[in-house]
Amino acid sequence: MKSVTIVIPVLNEATAIAANMRQIMESVKSLGATVDARILVVDDGSRDDTVRIVQRLAETEPTVQVLALTRNFGKEAAIHAGLDHASGDAVIVMDCDLQHPPALLPRMIQLWRDGLDVVEAYKIDRGGESWLSGLLAGGFYALFNRLAGFDLRNHSDFKLLDRKVVEAYCRLPERERFFRGLITWMHFPSARIPFEVPERSGGGSAWSRLRLVKYSLTIISSFSSLPLQVVGWAGALTLCISLVLGTKALYDKFMGHAIDGFATVILLVLILGSIIMLSIGVVGNYIARIYEEVKRRPSYLIDLRRSSVTERQSADRAGEPE
Ligand code: UDP
Ligand code: MG
Repeated sequence: MKSVTIVIPVLNEATAIAANMRQIMESVKSLGATVDARILVVDDGSRDDTVRIVQRLAETEPTVQVLALTRNFGKEAAIHAGLDHASGDAVIVMDCDLQHPPALLPRMIQLWRDGLDVVEAYKIDRGGESWLSGLLAGGFYALFNRLAGFDLRNHSDFKLLDRKVVEAYCRLPERERFFRGLITWMHFPSARIPFEVPERSGGGSAWSRLRLVKYSLTIISSFSSLPLQVVGWAGALTLCISLVLGTKALYDKFMGHAIDGFATVILLVLILGSIIMLSIGVVGNYIARIYEEVKRRPSYLIDLRRSSVTERQSADRAGEPE
């Protein structure tokens, strides 16, 4: 029988975790004997009673397991830890606040059984989000699309991944991860199913606006080196402007319209400014290359199902241990 592990990252969810878990387990039970479903709750360093509540649940429910991180490493790290420790043939990542409706689980599993490697649930309505949060999220996704080339609008972390996708994800060597972005980047055959985001069931979101801004900057810088190269373009622009202003300063000097010494000062400022900007641009370009290399993201991934090479051949070629 195929097995599925449901990975649920949690942080300080003591107020509602027991009730929410009960509801998630109801949905898991409704899957019946068609699939062996287990739940792996990853506690991301909660400072309330969350771990104890889930541990107590795990004592009576053999399908529930707890993985407790030593401190709050952030949701991305909790998802990574969950994927590293999940044993199922497929893994589903979902939030514990019921904003990722457990009712979708059977459809996700069915689509996976039909042969898709990734099933992504996407938001058709962003729930009770304020207009400012909606605007900021829209701005972030537009910028991300422009810089990284992936349109992640309305994507969520509510995803089912086949084992080979989980393994490919865990093999990525980078530390800073953006789950949604990397799954899209890997581009395994996928299906998308829509969902409306309900109100949060109990507790409150751990994401302050400042934390979201920091997270957005980390994500953008881990997917694009374009901002580093912008200085180079700014340098080229400064050089063009310098040429125009420099010519005007020299013209004024020779026509006798300029104050004494003005042309020398302005030319020095313009020449030095352009040289400095261009040099920073060149350095930025090299740093961008170094940055792309240290990420050590593989330059390609193979879809074995649509290739005629076998898994073993592919691993041998890639020099991987057997
Ligand atoms: N979460 C986590 N670590 C964090 C922040 C959040 O594991 O540092 C968990 C949280 O308990 C929940 C899920 O990630 O299960 C989504 O968090 P939240 O509902 O606060 O985010 P939002 O729905 O506002 O995006
Ligand atoms: Mg939530």
